[in-house]
Parts: sequence; structure tokens; C-alpha cells
Amino acid sequence: MLLSIVVPCYNEEENIRAFYDKTKEALGGALAHAEFVFIDDGSEDGTVKELKKLCQTVPERVRVISFSRNFGKEAGLLAGLRYAKGEYVAIIDADLQQDPKYIGDMLEILSKNPEYDCVAAYQEIRNEGKVLSFFKDSFYKLINKITDIEFYRSASDFRVLSRRMVNAILAMPEKRRFSKGIFSWVGFRTYYMPYQVQKRFAGKTKWNFWKLASYAINGIISFSDKPLIVSSVLGFFLFLISVVMLLAVVIKTLLFGDPVAGFPTLASLILLGSGIQLLCIGILGQYLAKMYEEIKGRPVYLVKEEFDNEE
Ligand code: UDP
Ligand code: MG
Repeated sequence: MLLSIVVPCYNEEENIRAFYDKTKEALGGALAHAEFVFIDDGSEDGTVKELKKLCQTVPERVRVISFSRNFGKEAGLLAGLRYAKGEYVAIIDADLQQDPKYIGDMLEILSKNPEYDCVAAYQEIRNEGKVLSFFKDSFYKLINKITDIEFYRSASDFRVLSRRMVNAILAMPEKRRFSKGIFSWVGFRTYYMPYQVQKRFAGKTKWNFWKLASYAINGIISFSDKPLIVSSVLGFFLFLISVVMLLAVVIKTLLFGDPVAGFPTLASLILLGSGIQLLCIGILGQYLAKMYEEIKGRPVYLVKEEFDNEE
């Protein structure tokens, strides 16, 4: 049984060796039947150099795919899954926040429970700020309500997948990828395993609030058309209201003959109407932009070089 360990890396020079050592320590002999697939996501530091060194010094199979620039973690994951040959594929970060020892537990769960095709780790105790936690909670509530698939709160990309699930994921041609959704969309059964997230070993996180927000919006656009429906419904109700108001004004003028007063009311109504219009056009635009991106059909990533230590 071959296990592929897919590791997306972006500016992780200080973590590569430590990651390998820790994985070796945790999985030991099991690594004899494993390959590492490192994706260098256009790192600007010495990540590639470290990977080359690793490639030359360790007995395990190591493959490295280096992108021409930074394409984002999603692109890295896709490349990793494409290059992985294993019967099982583990996805893990390079920064040691996710202890490699859990990979062993995940494999055991999969081998003992053949009805499961995936084991995903989720954070039992989350050490994030209250505000961020609130936004994340709201996001999961919303996306679970407006999509048909289930998004598990706190489930990470840290998981082990079976070959057939990997193949299903690879069969999805979309360019702008939202893995959390794709993992659920393909179906199969996922076992959620609690884990304790560690502090980053070195370097710093590449996420900030706005990146997370844009990632969340991308997730909603990718997996739900409800925002479009909401904007149509909103438009319809505004139309109804305006008809009623128009009738009221006409009747009032006919009966009482007084000129329509209330410029401020008019101004605010126009503002309200055009605001909602812009909002709806914006929503439409998001979908259009996504379509444009898919239609252009640009590759998700470009490979600059790849190397391995296989004979
Ligand atoms: N990563 C990547 N490309 C990016 C950003 C991140 O390949 O553009 C990798 C990064 O090297 C790490 C993993 O994705 O191995 C998770 O990133 P990070 O630790 O920054 O995220 P966090 O753990 O804070 O969610
Ligand atoms: Mg991290």
C-alpha cells in the first residue's frame, strides 16, 4: 500500500527539514511505503533549495513540483493530488501546525472502516479571536443553509483520502477551486477526527481577514446560486411596493388634488432603489466574473521545474 504525503509549501524554508524529521519520527517504518509530494507554490525564499537538499539526503521517495509563481494553496493541493500516486493520499501543511502523527491514526481508521473514504481532522479547541470565530460561525451557518452539501465547521484540509475519492476530486474540471466544498460535493463518507492544532514551527501565516473573507465569498459563489435568487426576489418585492405607492399617489392626487410633497422621501427612495440595484448587479457580476474565469480556461498553475530522487 503506497501512501502519498502531499505538502503545499509557500515560503517554508525553515520548516521543510523539521517537517520531514517529525514525520519520520511519527510514522517510522510506515514511510518505507510512502512518497512525499512537495508543492513549492512559487516561494521567494530558500524553500526549493531546502527541498533539493531533502531530496538528496533522505531514503524515502520525494517528488517536488515547483510553480512558476505563487498560485495559492488550492492550486498546490490540486497539483499534489495530480502527482500523488498512492493508494491513500494524505494532505498536510508544512508548518507543523498539524502533527504528522495523526496520519497514522487516520490510516488506521480507514483500514478498519472500509465504508469511509476520507478521514478529516477538525480542531476541537479553536484558539482564534472572538470576532474571527463569530464570522466563521456565521459563514458556516450561511453556507450550510444555502447549499445542498454539508460544510463541517472547523474541518481542515488536513486529511487522508482514498484513491477513488482522489480520482473523483480530480475529475472536477473547475479552475477556481474551493476544496472544502469539493471534498463534500464528491460525496463518499468522511470520518471527522478531532485533533489539537499546534503553533506554527517557523515563519508566519499567509492568511488575513480579507483573504479569508474573499475565500468565503468564493466558496458561496462556487456552491450556491441562492444569492442570485435572493436578488431576483428583492427586485420583485421592490417592484410590488413601487406599484402600490404609485397607485396611492395617483389616487391621492385625483381625490384631493394636492401636489405630491416630500422631496426627502423621494430622494431616499431613489437611493434605496439604486442601492439595491447596484448590490444585485454586483452579485450578478460575481457569477459573471467566475464564468469568465472558467471560460478563459487558463491552467490553475504552471510548473517551473520538477525533480525527484527516484532512479
Ligand atoms: N500555502 C501555499 N500557498 C499559499 C499559502 C499557503 O502552498 O499561497 C501553504 C503553506 O506553506 C502551508 C499551508 O499552505 O503549508 C497552510 O498555510 P498557512 O500556514 O499560511 O495557513 P494557516 O495554517 O494559517 O491556515
Ligand atoms: Mg499554518
